[in-house]
Amino acid sequence: MSIYAMHRLNKEGTVFSTSTTSYTKDYAERALPLYLADQLIEDDNGRIRRRYRLHSDKPTTIDTALSYDINCPQCGNRLRQIGRCLNAHDLGLYRCPNCDKN
Ligand SMILES: [Zn+2]
Repeated sequence: MSIYAMHRLNKEGTVFSTSTTSYTKDYAERALPLYLADQLIEDDNGRIRRRYRLHSDKPTTIDTALSYDINCPQCGNRLRQIGRCLNAHDLGLYRCPNCDKN
């Protein structure tokens, strides 16, 4: 699993760029208010795809989580949410439409 740090791009704190880190999940939990953790899944064609789970240290409502626009750590394109929030800390699941083209 890789951890991606999030960087606010607007005043409201709803648009983020992301960057690769070498953090462990334990360290990210302590150090980062918001981060993405990736997971690799196999799609219907047997290709390995990368998905990103958003985590927040502060309890976050679904409405707030839905207002976030997050850029892909690999290519910078906007991620698309494809899975719902699990609880107030483990938020949406995202994919990158651009990276998935390859
Ligand atoms: Zn991408």
